[in-house]
Amino acid sequence: MKGTLYIVSTPIGNLEDITLRALRILKEVDLIAAEDTRHSLKLLTHFNIRKPLVSYWGEKEKVKAEETLQRLKDGQSVALISDAGTPGISDPGTVLIGKAIEGGIRVVPVPGPSAVITALSLSGFPTEEFTFCGFLPAKETQRRKLLERISLEQRTLVFYEAPHRILETVADMAEIMGERAVVVIRELTKLHEEVFRGTVSVVLDSLEHSTIAGEYVVILEGRPEKGALHFDDALKEVRELMRKGLGRKEAAKKIGEEYGFSKKELYDRSLEG
Ligand code: SAM
Repeated sequence: MKGTLYIVSTPIGNLEDITLRALRILKEVDLIAAEDTRHSLKLLTHFNIRKPLVSYWGEKEKVKAEETLQRLKDGQSVALISDAGTPGISDPGTVLIGKAIEGGIRVVPVPGPSAVITALSLSGFPTEEFTFCGFLPAKETQRRKLLERISLEQRTLVFYEAPHRILETVADMAEIMGERAVVVIRELTKLHEEVFRGTVSVVLDSLEHSTIAGEYVVILEGRPEKGALHFDDALKEVRELMRKGLGRKEAAKKIGEEYGFSKKELYDRSLEG
């Protein structure tokens, strides 16, 4: 009989967040496939779990996935874990999961923490619908292009970000997405958990005066609904469209219709300063 692949979520900081089921599965399986075995050993040692470990990180992922698939086909059970949170969510793991599905292996999720959901729950923003964007591109031009592409999105937007890029990213958001509400959360569930709330420029200023370290999630309010946009922001959008090459008249008409403001008022005010 074929084995089972368990996708096991592990804590994103606080070790008490591991579930009872995750602990039981990790103790029962024949093999644990980990992103980085050295990293996971700390977690497993903490919970007194001693199991054969295989790493599926980086270039090894495809080869290791094949080997692990064979073990699953031979009837072994395998727990897939990543360094933190839910495997496959901005983390490796999808290669093995895909192969297991193709190979007719039973795949069972063992849910638990994930930074995207944890941060969203704390944001206070609408969560009926949201867009998870993962990590933005590291290169400035690509990052800005992507932000421009999603700047019309009305759903709440969630991003993962590294500490060395957090200031640039929030600065780009201020410039490209306009003055919206944002929540930046650092070190969720850890000792130095910190939440920055406000408009993008206010949060940017707070971040600039804070210790930049650890892991960050950025949650940005979606583009305000028709009519909910402040006139000055609509004016900024007119200027932004003009910067991109649209004529003043067309830009004022487009934004006026979109947000329910007078196109004449937008046109006239866009001539000022
Ligand atoms: N698989 C993980 C999950 O389910 O959340 C995400 C892994 S991804 C490689 C790592 C990124 O997730 C970090 O750079 C950060 O943006 C976010 N993250 C993970 N743990 C976090 C935490 N404790 N606090 C804030 N952000 C966190």
